[in-house]
Amino acid sequence: MHIPTHILSGWCAADLVELTPRERVFAMVAAAIPDVDGLGLLLSFDYYNEYHHVLAHNLLFGTVSAGLLALCSTHRLKGFILYFALFHLHLVMDLLGSGPAWGIRYFWPVSSHDFQNPYGWELSSWQNTLALAILLAWTVASARKRGRTPFELLYPSLDREFRGIPRVRSGDLVSGNEPNPKQKTKAGG
Ligand SMILES: [Zn+2]
Repeated sequence: MHIPTHILSGWCAADLVELTPRERVFAMVAAAIPDVDGLGLLLSFDYYNEYHHVLAHNLLFGTVSAGLLALCSTHRLKGFILYFALFHLHLVMDLLGSGPAWGIRYFWPVSSHDFQNPYGWELSSWQNTLALAILLAWTVASARKRGRTPFELLYPSLDREFRGIPRVRSGDLVSGNEPNPKQKTKAGG
């Protein structure tokens, strides 16, 4: 499936668990990180064709990436379980919606067996559009209910915009920024 769909799958799953903002970012990373092997496209289409769905779409990469993210997490065990599960959710989503020709070499490099799903649908399909729409609706509903968005840590100002928190004035937001030094001086006499 498309990378934004994978990222949102990580966000929505993390939204169901008690985590820190950084761990929620890690969950989005874990859900999308297998597609790092698609960066071969920057070198050549042949390289992309050869190694996409191979180098990072396998058990070894999933275990290592989930382990590294868990090491940098506050809730290490819970984080590892979630990141590992999200990695596999990515593989399932790919088997469903990346096109029947794109298999997964799950046990690479030990085995090159290519697991395929003959019933999968193409990347450009209504099913993938529907999946993205559902995840987006979930994200919007969560922003209203829990007051957070996928931008909470990386783009706090965008996060506030999405949640509809108005600005008081340029550079100073309602939720908790320190007043500027001039104000402090006046207040303190
Ligand atoms: Zn993928």
